[in-house]
Amino acid sequence: MLMFSVNPCYDLMPASEDVEELWNEKNYENPLFNMDAERQELYEECQRRGVGITVMKAFGGGDLLDGELSPAGKALSTFQCLNYALTRPGVAAVMSGARTIEDLQADIAYESASEEEKDYAPALASFPKISWSGHCMYCGHCAPCPQGIDVATVTKFLNLAVSQGSVPETVREHYGTLAHTAGECAACGACERRCPFQVKIIENMKKAVEIFGK
Ligand code: SF4
Ligand code: SF4
Repeated sequence: MLMFSVNPCYDLMPASEDVEELWNEKNYENPLFNMDAERQELYEECQRRGVGITVMKAFGGGDLLDGELSPAGKALSTFQCLNYALTRPGVAAVMSGARTIEDLQADIAYESASEEEKDYAPALASFPKISWSGHCMYCGHCAPCPQGIDVATVTKFLNLAVSQGSVPETVREHYGTLAHTAGECAACGACERRCPFQVKIIENMKKAVEIFGK
């Protein structure tokens, strides 16, 4: 397993051995676009190898929960931060920091929170200087697909295969167990209209068919 800092602001930062860079305000002054490629690669590699990531700094030391302090310029809720971390490839658990019993209870409430409360996509899509346009965030906002395709999961498997340059056997097996696969896509476009990050889903479904054969 691997313990690693994961949150929607640190994920934009290039890999560095200097941890101070993660909360250096200067690094967030200019517009930021999309996840750092090395971080993405790390998460995907972990998922491929069955290495569970346990997350620390899901709230950026609390800064992400405060609009004044957050590098994004807007506050996220604890539920949104936890859900973001838990939906990254490879992530198995979040070690949420708690200063008080109330903090801990607020974190545990995630287990009974509604999907709307956990939904981080609209918040991320509204950050003033940060954009994930064209990048699948695995938020599931594109659902429901009339063909029953789980677009977020298909896209996750597609990205794992593309970054590896071949289809790992475990990914092929998991893809094979999906009730509906990309080959059933009718190109209706309903998912693309709902995606807050302008992902070219129909194109991705075609690529998935090329790669997985169905
Ligand atoms: S395609 Fe868009 S809406 Fe669907 S999971 Fe990815 S980012 Fe979210
Ligand atoms: S375009 Fe394809 S994946 Fe998207 S909702 Fe329509 S059938 Fe489903």
